[in-house]
Amino acid sequence: MTDETLGLLLSRIKDVPDYPKPGVMFKDITPLLADPQAFAALTGVLTELCGRYGATKIVGLEARGFILAAPVAVQAGVGFVPVRKAGKLPGATLRQAYELEYGSAEIEVHAEDLAPGDRVMVIDDVLATGGTAEASLELIRRAGAEVAGVAVLMELGFLAGRGRLERALAGAPLDAL
Ligand code: AMP
Repeated sequence: MTDETLGLLLSRIKDVPDYPKPGVMFKDITPLLADPQAFAALTGVLTELCGRYGATKIVGLEARGFILAAPVAVQAGVGFVPVRKAGKLPGATLRQAYELEYGSAEIEVHAEDLAPGDRVMVIDDVLATGGTAEASLELIRRAGAEVAGVAVLMELGFLAGRGRLERALAGAPLDAL
């Protein structure tokens, strides 16, 4: 990615203090999505990464991960698979629980969407504690598929999500743009 592209992307991400609760700096990507040049630049970089990973499927994490992953899947010519919060998918699913700061959460994927032989790229907007991404990697492995790599627009380094993901990545790359 060129410095110019990086500058464009950074200029379109808005820091919103104390949202959704006091002490959280929310990274709002809606200005980036509303700028066709920035959105195209981002999907272009992610599509290139998909090629480098040799991915044959792309998993998007609800909800902003869907917005980024779907156009990349179309451009790369690979399938898009949504990983959703529990209770939203109508078919037979694999379900994975994970720990949050307070309490726990569950995500699901349609079991028939991932299979042995698939090489899967995971896309989300923000890597924070890494809990969501880690659970998605568990789902991919439990489906018998292979993790090709994880790509996020932003990584909140102080939350140490990268360290938490290390075991689940098992050598697969994690790219934070
Ligand atoms: P985590 O499981 O802690 O890595 O959280 C990742 C998920 O929460 C991602 O799907 C993000 O969209 C969202 N998220 C966490 N922290 C932030 C933040 N500061 N700004 C925007 N989204 C966030």
